[in-house]
Amino acid sequence: MFSFRFLRRRGRADSSSETTLAKLGRVLNRHEPGADVASLLQDVPPSWPPERRQNHGPQALAFPLAAAKKIAVLRPGFTLPETAKEFAAHDLAGIQAWEPDALVVPLNSALLLADQKLRGKFELPSLSLAVTAITRIDDSPMAQHHRDLLWRAFEVPVFEQLLGWDGAVIARECELHCGLHLADETVIATIRDEELLLTHLNQVEEPIVLARSGYGATLLPEACECGATSPRLCDLMPVRQRVRAME
Ligand SMILES: [Zn+2]
Repeated sequence: MFSFRFLRRRGRADSSSETTLAKLGRVLNRHEPGADVASLLQDVPPSWPPERRQNHGPQALAFPLAAAKKIAVLRPGFTLPETAKEFAAHDLAGIQAWEPDALVVPLNSALLLADQKLRGKFELPSLSLAVTAITRIDDSPMAQHHRDLLWRAFEVPVFEQLLGWDGAVIARECELHCGLHLADETVIATIRDEELLLTHLNQVEEPIVLARSGYGATLLPEACECGATSPRLCDLMPVRQRVRAME
């Protein structure tokens, strides 16, 4: 059995210098480089989803397409590359005047903009490359009807970036749209009884270990054609809906 003595200790891991496994080892009070993560966790019971909590600081924005020249970012909390600029979601005039070719926007705001665009109340002709929609594990990951609406409105590819309970990006949609690549410096994903369980590597003081997500998913560990090496989450949907879909 595990000892969780470490979990009661104060102190934060140095995120830059440790490997994913070393961090997990710290969280579980184990130090076994090379150990199989799934077997490390198999005796640990899942926990309930944690409350939404404060993020521990800004996270670098990773836009899926390198070709983006002007990325309008309608969500605070990212450190931005030179090609990006932050706007308030309601600053439509400012966004239009800057003429971005790409948007990063929370899903709810993206759907509102799409609705306004389809009703002729909002135009953004410069948007030619892609929209990245930010979703949350404790809210609503992207559903197909969301994608359909965004496509009809903007006619550019849509990429999802999924946030965890603390607002950190935990998965980013593959450039080839083959699922969402896990941010494996931030989380470890496990599927148990068809439910996605998440262990956060960035939450040491109040650890999130094998937290239930309420979502079913398929986890693909094999290498992806896009070149990214982290496992992919596919078919993310609420557990009940997933069960119905499989009947
Ligand atoms: Zn990929």
